[in-house]
Amino acid sequence: MSISKGNMKIGALPSFSLPALQTCPGKTDFCADICYGLRGNFVFLSVKNIYKQNQIASTGEGFVDSITNQIRKTHAEAFRLHVVGDFYCVPYIEKWMEIARRLPDVSFFGSTRSWRTAGLANAVGTFRDMPNVYIKASIDPSNRDSPDDNWGVWSIEGKGYPCPHDFGLVENCKQCGRCWSDQFTDIRFNLRWGRKKRVNPDQAAMMGG
Ligand code: SF4
Repeated sequence: MSISKGNMKIGALPSFSLPALQTCPGKTDFCADICYGLRGNFVFLSVKNIYKQNQIASTGEGFVDSITNQIRKTHAEAFRLHVVGDFYCVPYIEKWMEIARRLPDVSFFGSTRSWRTAGLANAVGTFRDMPNVYIKASIDPSNRDSPDDNWGVWSIEGKGYPCPHDFGLVENCKQCGRCWSDQFTDIRFNLRWGRKKRVNPDQAAMMGG
């Protein structure tokens, strides 16, 4: 089991991921179809094996201690939850609550579709309410609803503040920090992952560019 030290999108920030789709009980047909966890570097056997080992380890007794220690050693200000994968059961969510409690100076950010799953919605909502947790509800064009007004959203081509990385205005999330600036900011992403859009003056002003 291991945390990742960063990637091209998030920069030098640590993250933790799980196998795509099988750990995503709230997935829509749309997101299953476009999932970037099934493309690019994520199809390498070595990457898949790490995510599988992460899933197995996440069910074990030592998970909380191990992950807490790994994150602490990075001295990171923010931690990305689930570049790939999602919250798949209540005990797993409770483990992240304990990790976030032990690391109050780290901002945990990311999104989840598990708010759509009846047995998980309350638990992810409780996790999101923690003061250092910035988890948004993930939505897409096939499903514009968000769970309630307490949730900010990450939308694909929907509502929200346009992600500056999609417009080439920042190198990575570490330079931006918007996703862990407040818990209610809606963020909008480009559907064509990693391909820069042209930015118009109105959007540049909105993004402070
Ligand atoms: S809005 Fe900023 S922090 Fe959020 S995903 Fe885009 S670049 Fe990263």
